[in-house]
Amino acid sequence: MASIAEPVANLIREFSKLPGIGPKSAQRLVYHLLRNPDEEAKALAEAVLTLKEKIKLCSVCFNITDCDPCLICQDTERDHSKICVVEKPADIPPLERTGKYQGVYQVLHGAINPSQGVEPGELKMNELVSRLQDGSVAEVILATNPNLEGETTALYLRQIISPLGIRVSRLARGLPFGAELEYADDVTLTQALESRREF
Ligand SMILES: [Zn+2]
Repeated sequence: MASIAEPVANLIREFSKLPGIGPKSAQRLVYHLLRNPDEEAKALAEAVLTLKEKIKLCSVCFNITDCDPCLICQDTERDHSKICVVEKPADIPPLERTGKYQGVYQVLHGAINPSQGVEPGELKMNELVSRLQDGSVAEVILATNPNLEGETTALYLRQIISPLGIRVSRLARGLPFGAELEYADDVTLTQALESRREF
């Protein structure tokens, strides 16, 4: 990109690193910012900076939040006797969009993957088990991804949680094997949630 001014080429490179953005889209975004008022570019830059400054993990469920506990954990209208276990923070918005889940969450921040060196101890599993100690939780819904790592993680968690006398369920098979929760559509996810089965 020698013919392109370095600041332009630089931002194109940075945008290209984002998921779903190829070099052409990156270029379109950069020229869009150049054409539009300075304020627009400043607002974008500030939003990016604030994101990393203000966002932390909820000390209860480990979802990303700007207040602690997060809004979901704080919400007394929600059913705190149900905990839905997901792999990553991005899995929560699609489940919330279904409007069918009123319980709370636990974010593991990954799934068991021995080939990548991800062992149970590196995930927020002990923290989950601590939450189950006071007897207030009646059901844990395992919503890890329907792929090898997600299944391994679900089986592992079942072994730990079932002996505590807590109901363990798993999202139904409506989700195709190998799929990722983050990208599941509302209808499929609602069905998977509503026909969750004992696990
Ligand atoms: Zn929380």
